[in-house]
Amino acid sequence: MTIRTRFAPSPTGYLHIGGVWAALFAWMYARRHGGQFILRIEDTDTKRTVPGALENLIASLRWFGLDWDEGPDVGGPYGPYIQTQRVDLYAQYANRLVAQGHAYKCFATPEELAEMRQELEAKGDRSGYDRRYRDMPQAEVEKLEREGRPYTIRFKMPLDGQTVVPDLLRGDVVFDNDQFTDYVIVKSNGLPTYHLAHVVDDHLMQISHITRGIEWLNTAPIHVRLFEAFGWEMPVLVHMPVILSPSGKGKLSKRDQAFDDGGERILVRADEFMAGGYLPAAVLNFLANVGWTFGDDQEKFTIEEAIARFDLADVSAVPTKLPYSKLDWLNGQYIQEMEPLALAAAVKPYLEREGYHIDVDQLALVMPALRVRLRRLTDAIDFLRFVFEDVPLVVMAEDLAHKKMPLPAAQAAYAQVLDFIVNVEPFDVETIAAGLRAIGEGATENNSPGPLLGSLRLAITRQRVSPPLFESIVVLGRQRTVQRLQEALALLNTVTANP
Ligand code: GLU
Repeated sequence: MTIRTRFAPSPTGYLHIGGVWAALFAWMYARRHGGQFILRIEDTDTKRTVPGALENLIASLRWFGLDWDEGPDVGGPYGPYIQTQRVDLYAQYANRLVAQGHAYKCFATPEELAEMRQELEAKGDRSGYDRRYRDMPQAEVEKLEREGRPYTIRFKMPLDGQTVVPDLLRGDVVFDNDQFTDYVIVKSNGLPTYHLAHVVDDHLMQISHITRGIEWLNTAPIHVRLFEAFGWEMPVLVHMPVILSPSGKGKLSKRDQAFDDGGERILVRADEFMAGGYLPAAVLNFLANVGWTFGDDQEKFTIEEAIARFDLADVSAVPTKLPYSKLDWLNGQYIQEMEPLALAAAVKPYLEREGYHIDVDQLALVMPALRVRLRRLTDAIDFLRFVFEDVPLVVMAEDLAHKKMPLPAAQAAYAQVLDFIVNVEPFDVETIAAGLRAIGEGATENNSPGPLLGSLRLAITRQRVSPPLFESIVVLGRQRTVQRLQEALALLNTVTANP
């Protein structure tokens, strides 16, 4: 059997991280078996469609590197892949069910339905519909149609007995049919509901495994019965477990944006991870650890390694949490493995977002030193602020001196450094490092360059924590380094001039 899985989101807003997770597993499974992964847009609930959501969804999935073999933008043999473009098809199949007696037209008006619901609820029946049009004689149906009365199409669920839903993670889940009513499969506006649309599509698109949220398990009996009525083979059903908030209170799927969970910042939308300075590979690694384990107690692995071991049958059915506390650590690991140039290119957009512009090659110079300190790409902003902003030097002259390099020695050393920076050629890390070390050694009795180098870091980067000094100087450039040194020297001189 060819493995064909799909991600079938509704374009109702941003891509939820739970959606990425479900998509990831479906995608991994298809990739593992050399099958196909399909993107299908379920937009028949048009009231919920949000403009721009489709583009956002596609961009987010692409950012993660989850590629699809068939979908709205790439086409494919079973298209179109947007449900509102397939409405005639659903109507055709709904009519077939009506003709075969599996479904019927229901002419209940909204008022009639409201009344019905009330009456049913009074009897403790929350199904909302009493099946009054189920057995209406054909002549009457035709009469109402001729009068132009709007109608929905409802599917006839069995009145008694049970329906078995085979779920890959849970085994057979058995439902009593008397808890169901006859659900609408085509609305009065002619659009299908999820029940009909996905059954038709999953069949026609030859989906082998339906991976979807657990919230669909309770209506899965309708889907089982629909497949049966059409005489189609049912794909394998995989209902993904619920993802809880990290605190264990409430569902993460109910959240639509980042929130604070007992002091921890919890991101929930794909674009929040993007904006937060995370690398897609790290986030995928993080997500693959949810409800599935790689094995060997290994937390960090590439997605290719995961694919080679992945099986949908190994996904856990129990509610699970996203291990947010691992995310920053994992992301930091991925950052450390990046080449300086690639890391600089990845950091650049975040700097630009702050209004900071810099050449990637320049930025790459500080990356070998910076990368061990970054957990998120956005962390680079604070480290590099000194390059972009001329922060005033707000220290005392004494702060630029040291026990081992008292004020007069510091003064002399700064004068030498200034002279050196003005003239040094080439203006590169090695030459600058050698020159400054030599001056620093001369500034202390025990020939230690430490006190001067520490002082210069403060004078030049104006930060106590910054990328290493020599790289910082190169990135800052000769002219601005000279300016900052002059300021520092002036400060040192002021003190000795007025003791
Ligand atoms: N459109 C449905 C949703 O977003 C998809 C469920 C499914 O995958 O079948 O929940």
